[in-house]
Parts: sequence; C-alpha cells; structure tokens
Amino acid sequence: MTESVVAAAPMVLADRVCKNFGALQVLKGISLEVQRGKVLTLVGPSGSGKSTFLRCINHLEQVNAGRLYVDGDLVGYREKNGKLYEMHERDAALQRRDIGMVFQHFNLFPHRTALENVIEAPIQVRGIRKAEAIARAEELLERVGLSAKRNAYPAQLSGGQQQRVAIARALAMDPKLMLFDEPTSALDPELVGEVLAVMRELADSGMTMLVVTHEMGFAREVADELVFMDAGVVVESGPPRELLANPQHERTQAFLSRLL
Ligand code: ADP
Ligand code: MG
Repeated sequence: MTESVVAAAPMVLADRVCKNFGALQVLKGISLEVQRGKVLTLVGPSGSGKSTFLRCINHLEQVNAGRLYVDGDLVGYREKNGKLYEMHERDAALQRRDIGMVFQHFNLFPHRTALENVIEAPIQVRGIRKAEAIARAEELLERVGLSAKRNAYPAQLSGGQQQRVAIARALAMDPKLMLFDEPTSALDPELVGEVLAVMRELADSGMTMLVVTHEMGFAREVADELVFMDAGVVVESGPPRELLANPQHERTQAFLSRLL
C-alpha cells in the first residue's frame, strides 16, 4: 500500500470477521470501521460476541475467517504471495502494545501502588527509563484526577478510582487505539460518572476509541457511531442519536427497551 492509502485507512477495519470456539460460532461475519479520532460504541445483549470481537482486535483471539486490520495492518496473520500465514506471537505482541485495553474488572497489580501500576509496562515493554516513566505517569494520574492517590494501593481505592488508574495505565503505552470492555459495569452507580468523564475527555482529545457499554447517555453524547450487535452479527448501526431515537430492527428495539 502507498503512504496515502495507509494514512486514509480507518484505524479499525473489520471485514466479515468470523470466530468460533469449536462448534460454537460466536462471530458470524462482523464488518465495521472505526475512523481515526472517532468513537464507536458497541452494544448488544450478553453473549452476543462483543468481548470476543474486542479480543480479536487485540489478537488475544485469532479470527477464523474474514479480515481484521488495525491502522492498515492485518491482525494475527501475515500475507505472502496472496496466502495467509499465522503471525508469530512476538509480532502479535508488537501489534498489541499499541492498543490500550480497559476491562470491566480493572486487573490492577494488587501489590503495586497506582503509580507503580502505571509505570510497569512502559519500563518493562517499551524500555523507557524509570525517571521518564514516572514523570509521564504523574501527568497521566493528574489527567484522570488521581495525583493525590499516586502512592495508594488498589485495595485503598474505590472502584471508580481503580478504573481511572487502569485507564492511565493503558494510556502510558501511548496507544493509537483504546478498547473499553464494559468499563463501568462493575461499578456502583455513583462511581460511573467519574469514569465516563475521563473517557469523554479522552474522546475530546482525539483518541480513537471502541467502547462496549450499556451507558446509552455516553453513546448518545460522545460516540460518533453506535453499532448494535446480537448473536454474532451486526444488526444495525448509525449515528447514536438517530439509532436510539428510531431503531429499525425489532431486536434493537427490544434490547433498548430493556435498558430503559
Ligand atoms: P459478550 O461480550 O457480548 O457478552 P462474549 O464475546 O463474551 O459475549 O461471548 C460470546 C459467546 O462466546 C458466549 O456464548 C461465550 O460463552 C462464548 N465464548 C467466549 N469466549 C469463549 C472461549 N474462550 N471458549 C469458548 N466459548 C467462549
Ligand atoms: Mg462481554
């Protein structure tokens, strides 16, 4: 591909992506795009394959058919003379380190402070000098409103604070894409807003984001596109306000009415 084509490529391009676990078909031909600097929210019932799709983008799962590109690069395979070969784990790790992921359960290292959690990957994976990693981590903790908690351990933080540390930790790797998998689903209701506020600030700063969430207010106000998925297929997609106000498919209508 020429430079100009690569520059114009969407950050994520899924072309009829299929994934099965044995006989269980989980993704049945997912096609979607996330443009650079945009926010796409992915919604759908439990078990519809949302997490599996995010894990494919990050190459924690290998797709079985179809193609998935991140930043113009084929994920999980390399192509030679028109044939696909599975990528070596080392190359997959290189692709993965440019993608930030935030999970429902924050997965912080319990025996490390907030600051130590944030500096871990930049030092271990990127080989950044400790002083530099600390300076950057302090900036990021400030950005998520947690400067005062830099020396606190996860157990000393609320769920919302832990999730904000997890976001700072992902950002410390300077990702070009951020994936969020139900980042507020494990939080007490009063803590949801502080995490969504950090995500909104990130979106406003131009980060490309793919967010699985049930927070329709966030989808309506922050996302550029809403994709509704059910049973491994994209049922419908469009601008969030339009889709939420006027869902076309019965399955979307049923899902949305259950959320309200
Ligand atoms: P969602 O995130 O939309 O709730 P998931 O992607 O987690 O859905 O799961 C979709 C389906 O795939 C579910 O039926 C789930 O049980 C199945 N699944 C997910 N991961 C695995 C796995 N590693 N092995 C077998 N089945 C799996
Ligand atoms: Mg899930």
